[in-house]
Order: sequence, then C-alpha cells, then structure tokens
Amino acid sequence: LKKPPRAQRRLDERAARKLVRDRQKLALAEPGGAPERPIEVISSSVIPVRARATPCPLCAGSLNLDEEIALDARLRAAVMTCRRCGVSRRLYFTLPTTN
Ligand SMILES: [Zn+2]
Repeated sequence: LKKPPRAQRRLDERAARKLVRDRQKLALAEPGGAPERPIEVISSSVIPVRARATPCPLCAGSLNLDEEIALDARLRAAVMTCRRCGVSRRLYFTLPTTN
C-alpha cells in the first residue's frame, strides 16, 4: 500500500532534518568541533588557512571566515558561515604555550 503523498512528504522532511542533526553532531565530534577538542596549530596565522580548508559539515560547501575570537591565552574560535547553505560553524584552535 502506497502512502498518500502528503504523509510521505512529511516523512521525507523529518528524515532530512534528522540527517542535518546527525551531521551537526558528527561535526561537533570532529577535531576542532568543540572547545574541548581544539586543533593544535603552530601559530595563529595558520588558523584562517585551516578554517577555510574545512568544508561545511552539512553540504560540503566552502565556509566563510567571519571572525576569530580569543577565548583565552591559547584557545581561539573561528566563526564561520557556509556560503552555500548558510549554516554557521565554529572551529576551535589551540596555540602553543608562549615562553
Ligand atoms: Zn553548507
């Protein structure tokens, strides 16, 4: 028995939303996806390069680096927006300790 189109559409939308949630969860678990899992870089000049080299976790489009935030002496957050789907993403980096 085939489902009526409207119900089917609702199911598709639900599946699409779940996929987005799953991908976002996955992106958070990746290195740099959370402040507890920052990407180690040798200098802050590497951050924009690494940030731009990271594709959007949802559509694999390229991300725009909006700003860099210093969270503490070593921790940096790169605030990015996807040029294709518009999702915002943060990547976390840690700098070497300065002596
Ligand atoms: Zn995207």
